[in-house]
Amino acid sequence: MRRALAPAFVSHDVYRRAGYGANHPLGIARVGAVMDLCAALGWLQPGEYVESPAASFAELTRFHAADYVNAVRLGTGGRYNLGNMENPVFPGLFERAATCVGGSIRAAELAREGRVVFHPAGGTHHGRPDRASGFCYFNDPVFAILTLLERGAASVLYVDLDAHHGDGVQDAFASDRRVRTVSIHEQGRWPHTGGAGDVGEGRACNLPVPSGLNDSELEALLEEVVLPLAQRMAPQAIVLTCGADALAGDPLSRMALSNVALWSAVEQLVALAPAAVVLGGGGYNPWTVARYWTGLWGRLSGRAIPTKLPAPAAAILAALDCDLVDEEDRRPEWLTTLADAPNRGPVRPQIGHLMETCHELA
Ligand SMILES: [Zn+2]
Repeated sequence: MRRALAPAFVSHDVYRRAGYGANHPLGIARVGAVMDLCAALGWLQPGEYVESPAASFAELTRFHAADYVNAVRLGTGGRYNLGNMENPVFPGLFERAATCVGGSIRAAELAREGRVVFHPAGGTHHGRPDRASGFCYFNDPVFAILTLLERGAASVLYVDLDAHHGDGVQDAFASDRRVRTVSIHEQGRWPHTGGAGDVGEGRACNLPVPSGLNDSELEALLEEVVLPLAQRMAPQAIVLTCGADALAGDPLSRMALSNVALWSAVEQLVALAPAAVVLGGGGYNPWTVARYWTGLWGRLSGRAIPTKLPAPAAAILAALDCDLVDEEDRRPEWLTTLADAPNRGPVRPQIGHLMETCHELA
């Protein structure tokens, strides 16, 4: 799909502020580091960077219950799965969460104008209409899809490449004939939904994969299941959640993909629709998150990925820290490069079974 307009990078400085708290897996530098790395590489030129607006109360209540939106705003209480270890209440929470939704709405509007749009702070795919879930307060991918539909897209394909099942998005559109959802995630992980036979109300496709998923296996699933499904559907828009927890080295999951495999997967999917919104998602290793999403923007915006990072960019990676990744597990190349070495391997029988199940369902 050739696009006349330059790609857009939607973000906001609100993500540079400390949030969640030091003991939370998301209390690490993520989006700010991606913005800094892209700037250091000269990859955010005038016209490319778009500041995210904050979603209004009226916008938020198009999917979320008004009393829940108020609870997030006021930082009150347990009734909504708020204010606990999983979904802590912290200063600036509402501004951050509303900006994330506003960013996905803006991203969808720009995508309908014909731009590929990257919104790395997006991808809060577990958020529910009336409660927080899995570190997600609001569900910004839902708003990207709602905006695309409202702006005239007749069909939207949602593909979730995060290590966890995209449960909130699947359920939000379960009965909407215009939307199909696909989720590739590690089996046996929270939220323990999205089994191979789970088709929701007939519009969902779930690919729960064994731990250690390698590049060859991702490629096989794309070629055999996801790309054919997308080609048959011929969606007018596509929304992707690209959680960095699917990469090797993530402390909360055990998939083993390289970022180059994911960059290629995203590029192939984006090419299938005239409008494309690319979101972030989970990811709890600050080095692999920053390298994946920076390189993803590089690829989406047509830049060559450098073999070795220039010193100012390497310094940004060197300044990151994370309690969940032990010193001995930190690979030296995480500080000097963007691209991982590919992790090719055998396509295990379990992947074959998964492809057969999906052929039957399709
Ligand atoms: Zn995840």
